[in-house]
Amino acid sequence: TGAGGGPAAPAGLPDTIAHASEGGGNTVNITIDDGPDPRWTPQVLDVLARHDVKAVFCMIGPQAKAHPELVKQVVAAGHRLCDHTMNHDTTMDKKPVAYQEAQILDAKRLIEEAAGGGAKVEYYRAPGGAFTPDSRRIAAAHGMRPLGWNVDTKDFGRPGTAAIVAAVKREMGNGPTVLFHDGGGDRRQTVDALDQVLTWLKDQGRPTGFPVRTAP
Ligand SMILES: [Zn+2]
Repeated sequence: TGAGGGPAAPAGLPDTIAHASEGGGNTVNITIDDGPDPRWTPQVLDVLARHDVKAVFCMIGPQAKAHPELVKQVVAAGHRLCDHTMNHDTTMDKKPVAYQEAQILDAKRLIEEAAGGGAKVEYYRAPGGAFTPDSRRIAAAHGMRPLGWNVDTKDFGRPGTAAIVAAVKREMGNGPTVLFHDGGGDRRQTVDALDQVLTWLKDQGRPTGFPVRTAP
């Protein structure tokens, strides 16, 4: 098995954008973007550990290289890795294929080098959702399932902890994959909101799991 208890990358991974959960039913996928960050990633890891929840961390390549100890902690805790490119260019869908390929594959290499131990990056999430058919194909060909989201908590804009929690409760019917951030600025609201959301999900009887990688 690969990193985070996931399967080794199969040939012919789908290049469509995944939203569903491996767990099926009413399972929820928690995804954490734009890290790792030395201040906030440890706090997010603490919240997840307290709730015994596994998540997907969509990391930016140079940040993974700068903080390999955080990448190793993410993997050791049983979470999964996701490639969030080198430069978080939300207009990369307008750029040449060679640029997209370098953004994706350079970040994959840096994240896997930081993780060590043969850990694999299992998903690819385009910055700002700027996927293209080419970027999806490149990711899938390298063992990374394109990963979307259904619930944007809007935590990045710091609307207040209560607003972040309310967004999850309001939009959870959209689908199972929820987007949070552990990088890109002060993430105190995210840390607090994630704690409350995980308590709420448990009260709702909703388990957490990982997004699908392979076809059912
Ligand atoms: Zn992002």
